[in-house]
Amino acid sequence: MNLLLLDRAGWSLVLDLLDALTTGCYEHIMRTKETKYKWGHKMWDASKCDLCGDCLVRCRYVDYDKEKAVAEIRLLMEGKDADILTKCITCIACNDYCPTGADPSNLIFKMQERIGTSPIVVALAPFLDVITKGLEGQGEPSHLIAGDPDKPVLSLDSFDFGEIPEGTLDSQLFKGMTVVRGIEYMSLVGCVHMGGESFVEKYGQRVIDKLASLGKDIVYFHNEGFTLVHVKAKEYGITVPFGYMHLFEHLRNYLRDHQSSISKLGKKVAYQANCATRYVPEQDAFLDEIFELIGVKRPPRLYERLNAVCCTAPIINTNRELAIGIQEKNVKDAIECGADALITSCPYCDRVLRRPTSQLSLPKIFITDLCRIALGEKPWPEG
Ligand code: SF4
Ligand code: SF4
Repeated sequence: MNLLLLDRAGWSLVLDLLDALTTGCYEHIMRTKETKYKWGHKMWDASKCDLCGDCLVRCRYVDYDKEKAVAEIRLLMEGKDADILTKCITCIACNDYCPTGADPSNLIFKMQERIGTSPIVVALAPFLDVITKGLEGQGEPSHLIAGDPDKPVLSLDSFDFGEIPEGTLDSQLFKGMTVVRGIEYMSLVGCVHMGGESFVEKYGQRVIDKLASLGKDIVYFHNEGFTLVHVKAKEYGITVPFGYMHLFEHLRNYLRDHQSSISKLGKKVAYQANCATRYVPEQDAFLDEIFELIGVKRPPRLYERLNAVCCTAPIINTNRELAIGIQEKNVKDAIECGADALITSCPYCDRVLRRPTSQLSLPKIFITDLCRIALGEKPWPEG
């Protein structure tokens, strides 16, 4: 190898290898750095980690001091099992806590898949098998509802029609759009909640090629589909040959262009963010604009933005006691901030929060339904 011809990434690889030879982490660093060198990605990046421990000290689902947090990260960096792998509920918040952008949740998700013993991974392995079959073209058929030739496609990810709010596809918000759903169109990003971190790399190009075959631009109903094309595709060097848009931007555009049809709601709402919104925080500005356009205020509350809590969908069947405790704190916080409703934007969050919101008499409204209420398509729900 002519060292004089190496670029910055090449030098970084050489220095990592030298470091690995002295620290005994050769195999692990080769595995992670080979991928980094190949794609120039920004997933887990050991070179950015200064072992400050902030990620796991601030994780609200464990009670680690700095020493324990650093020891856990060290074990993972060495490719070894660690306590955090069984405790992590895959909320992605530690990415926001990390001051250097090292992406610690990606390291944890990779190791959860590799070690394979976390309760989430064990319990959801059968679902991952179904997803694998679907992605390999051996699952249930996908669905396509043809729309107007000049309108974009609305991708529902792998959600069944029955998992989105009733009447959504009849709304003026999506009129004339082609609609697709099925495992072959799924976002893959959410596979980290089942021990499938590698699925984006394995199947990302296949999913994107399937959407590209429609020959249209895509509006993503689910935040995670948008995350796949907007964030993960770049990290993995996956080509995205079509234009795309987040649901929030689509809704903002429609409402902005039809302001005379809006009746301002005059309500206060709390918002339950989908965990993968942490990858695309800039989309939150569209949500704020939507709320402004329809006359809705978002009063400050404890569990929002950086401090948002998991909806608990990944753990509802593996750690029900913890899940119910988080749900209760979350919904009570929404009520205490004066919200008239809790707004969701992910069908999984929406489903798992049905019980606690109903028990505490707080209306729960999917973001598309909130817009439909402002457009006069639906009434405000009973508490
Ligand atoms: S992803 Fe969430 S639960 Fe897992 S370690 Fe990070 S902050 Fe904790
Ligand atoms: S991943 Fe980030 S927050 Fe965690 S120890 Fe490394 S630098 Fe600190």
